Amino acid sequence: MLQENQQNKTDVIVVGAGPAGVSAAVTVARGSKNVVLVERGNFAGAKNMYGGVIYSHAAQEVFPNYKESPIERFVSTHSYVIMSENDSTIVSYKNPAHNENAFIITRANWDKWCVEQAIKEGVYYAPNTLVKELIVKEGKVIGIRTDVEEYYADVVIIADGVNSLLAKQIGLRKDIKPKNVFMGVKEVIKLPSEVIDQRFGLINQTGCAMELVGGPLKDLFAMGIIYTNKDSVAVGLGVALEDLKNNKTKPYELLEKMKKHPFVSDLIQDGELLEYSAHLIPEGGYNCLPKLYTDGAMVTGDAAMLVNNVHFEGTNFAMISGKYAGETALEALAKNDFSQNILCLYKKKLDNSFILKDLRTYKNVVKTLTERTNSIGYYSNKLNEFLEIFTTADGVEKKGKFQKFAKHFFTKR
Ligand code: FAD
Repeated sequence: MLQENQQNKTDVIVVGAGPAGVSAAVTVARGSKNVVLVERGNFAGAKNMYGGVIYSHAAQEVFPNYKESPIERFVSTHSYVIMSENDSTIVSYKNPAHNENAFIITRANWDKWCVEQAIKEGVYYAPNTLVKELIVKEGKVIGIRTDVEEYYADVVIIADGVNSLLAKQIGLRKDIKPKNVFMGVKEVIKLPSEVIDQRFGLINQTGCAMELVGGPLKDLFAMGIIYTNKDSVAVGLGVALEDLKNNKTKPYELLEKMKKHPFVSDLIQDGELLEYSAHLIPEGGYNCLPKLYTDGAMVTGDAAMLVNNVHFEGTNFAMISGKYAGETALEALAKNDFSQNILCLYKKKLDNSFILKDLRTYKNVVKTLTERTNSIGYYSNKLNEFLEIFTTADGVEKKGKFQKFAKHFFTKR
């Protein structure tokens, strides 16, 4: 690593080759500066998992040729599934003009493809390199220490994901509290492409993204997902760590229950389990944001807790925050000033963007939903109960049924 620079010094080091890191690195390279992208995995994406959907706007902004990546399917149908014990109500949004709003791709493929593009644009890529700690001198970050050596840079961009030991090391972040983090678990289930098309009502290799609430997830702050790949289906859920702890529930048991719900089991019937994975998701939102920069360093993506849990926006926040950090590093290099006076520009860019504007808008959502977890299960049950009555013709007068439903609706909570 860094052989091109005899003093082990470069302009910018980026730690972590996820969506945030690669976007930061490629932005710096496009500004004709030297940048080293360090990744602990033996290839980018090797250590990473997520649900499966990337919003195209961010991909387009950082990699305008993103459609050349190994996309599984574009999302043509976005559905919300409200489950109760055995029944379910589904609300679907479809709009052909909207088909390129988001796409489904595996992280192993996406991260690898992005790094290949970044290398073509001049990023020096160092896989299999675990950064043990940041080198700090007189309060300023000046480099990284790996198992083998020390490397120096004018700016270090921290993009090491949700646990970010590096942001913690320099005091930008504290340990995440269980109430501010979700545990995500996911299975990938193999099914023939034409079976997926038929079960999800898809044509021409378009895809479906589903989010699920209620039923097996009731009483927990949890949400399920089902995303269609070309010839497999991702089934998973995210659940608040605190709820897991308080309810003494294991995430894989919850996923098993969700897979047995008739709505889900019909979709994955006869499928073959290909993989199982788990990962944390920062869910604290605006109220948990760390300080985003210090002398010589900036924090991006999940490391900076930049996730909008309501809209499942993580990779797009990571890519755009990475891009802003890269742009700010270029400004700092142009001015030869790597202090907070210049790096605060990164925060200003985020403040003026959809990222912090949206996080501010949603800043109390997690707290509100946490306090109303039981209500989600309750209203899911009631909606399905109402629709069961509404869709049933059994020779019994309807008025009495609706009166009974209304009485229970208001009194039995
Ligand atoms: P990461 O993707 O975590 O990348 C961090 C990188 O840093 C990794 O490659 C890691 O190996 C490397 N690294 C860590 N420490 C070191 C070190 N010390 N030295 C060297 N390298 C290091 N977002 C969406 O947009 N759509 C979804 O559908 C979606 N679903 C999700 C479902 C689940 C279950 C989970 C867990 C997350 C989901 N997200 C989703 C969120 C999304 O995955 C993250 O927001 C996004 O990956 C953040 O990118 P990042 O680059 O900041 O971090």
